[in-house]
Amino acid sequence: VLTDHLRDTKEVEQSIRDIVLDYLSVGIDPEKSTIFIQSQIPQISELTMFFSMMVSFKRIQRNPTVKEEIKATGGKEVSYGFVGYPVSQAADILCVRANLVPVGKDQEAHLEQTREVAEFFNRTYGNVFPIPKTLLGKVSKLPGLDGQKMSKSRGNAIYLSDPINIVCKKVMSTITDTTRIHAADKGHPDGCNIFQYQCAFNRDEADAICKDCMDGKIGCVTCKKRLCDKLTEFLKPIQEKRKIYESDPNIVKRILRKGNQRTIEEASKTLEMVKEAMFFDYKQLF
Ligand code: SF4
Repeated sequence: VLTDHLRDTKEVEQSIRDIVLDYLSVGIDPEKSTIFIQSQIPQISELTMFFSMMVSFKRIQRNPTVKEEIKATGGKEVSYGFVGYPVSQAADILCVRANLVPVGKDQEAHLEQTREVAEFFNRTYGNVFPIPKTLLGKVSKLPGLDGQKMSKSRGNAIYLSDPINIVCKKVMSTITDTTRIHAADKGHPDGCNIFQYQCAFNRDEADAICKDCMDGKIGCVTCKKRLCDKLTEFLKPIQEKRKIYESDPNIVKRILRKGNQRTIEEASKTLEMVKEAMFFDYKQLF
């Protein structure tokens, strides 16, 4: 959060609530998947400090996602924490000794960095960490509606809680293939952001849409309307579920309290193992 929103931290609490409600509404079961707040787990900060000594500055600079994100700032100065966030992510993952991490495509590089940290640690101090594998979803990358990285500040995202009319407004105002003037012009779905969404949310029709677009047999307005229908179908049950959870004012609090506690217990065990392996438990001194 702080890498992007250093000056508007007031909104973080509400965002956490929204994210937990999003998780619940898409069916994540907090009994099976522990949900916690990173900054409530002090062991993560401690691990980040240890790990930061195990990654060279050059290696961090080579991280393609970091490189891309630095470029996206348009030459603005970036903070020390921003450059080092893959190390902090390694601590997020390894604090619970995770062995499988569900990520999007652009997070793969960070996971690679995490594996390197775990391997370095195990080689140097003894086996403590599993080497976490990557689990890519069926849709491993979904850009914002403008084709850029999806982000709140860029205003290019569709939210799970967006009212349907807003979702359709966003879709209908998206720029598509700029070389197409008339519906009968031959299109280029490969360079069209709407088509990426068709592939993600309207898989059954995506091939036919691709062909019709290239043959100039479908106009962008029709194509977008079909996407709106699919997104409505997709979001309706999620939003209905969300309403039920929203009506319980304490549900988020309960889940986070339990999740934080569970994570602290697990992360404390990890830190004990780490300190013992590094001889930082100072058995002879205390
Ligand atoms: Fe994109 Fe659909 Fe228009 Fe083709 S028809 S350019 S896929 S919006």
